[in-house]
Amino acid sequence: MVYVDIDVSLPDTNGSDTNGSDQTLGRRVSRNRKLRKRRVSLLDRLLLLFSTSRRVDKLWIVTEVSGKSGLVLSRVIDALCLIKTHDPHRFNRILRDLDRIWELVVPGADARYNVALRTCECNRRFVLDDASSPELIAATIVHEATHARLWHCGIGYEEAVRARVEKVCIRRELAFAAKLPCGQAVRARAEQKLALPTNFVATRRPRVGTSVIGSRLCVILVPWRG
Ligand SMILES: [Zn+2]
Repeated sequence: MVYVDIDVSLPDTNGSDTNGSDQTLGRRVSRNRKLRKRRVSLLDRLLLLFSTSRRVDKLWIVTEVSGKSGLVLSRVIDALCLIKTHDPHRFNRILRDLDRIWELVVPGADARYNVALRTCECNRRFVLDDASSPELIAATIVHEATHARLWHCGIGYEEAVRARVEKVCIRRELAFAAKLPCGQAVRARAEQKLALPTNFVATRRPRVGTSVIGSRLCVILVPWRG
């Protein structure tokens, strides 16, 4: 099972986040702003600088330079066009909640939300997979944009609320599927995720520490392997 998650790029919490939802829900946006200032790494800035990109309305679509860059960008742009055509309200919301969609190697996930960069990171392999229709890619973006929206509203991703947050995001996928003329695959995937045991999601941990460096090394090395 491939999952989606959120990259808060935080060291593990100091215990306060596991003491109850009262302490985890309702975190103020100031935390997000502080985090954003602190956590956009030089490595990420460099990787973005040497990437190739296209712009769709106010949203940057970014990927590393490789022989498949054009294909990767076009598949994501097709997905965005689907959202814009069939769910324009959600598309406008995505423009407000995300700065960019970055196609790169995301170990173990189809996508994740990068808080520091206000970026939906889509797994390049998922985007290039023949089984990934524009509808599925679009629903994945909708899911991660919902993470962004919740975070901006002050709702964190600590273990106590993680399962509830994921359910909200998956239900946004379902709502999006209902707007699509061919939304069956999106609906089926979302229902499959909703059927997973709650603790499957709740015990998952955000990506932290050295795994960030490992992930970025993948970004650098994998394109050369095709
Ligand atoms: Zn999620």
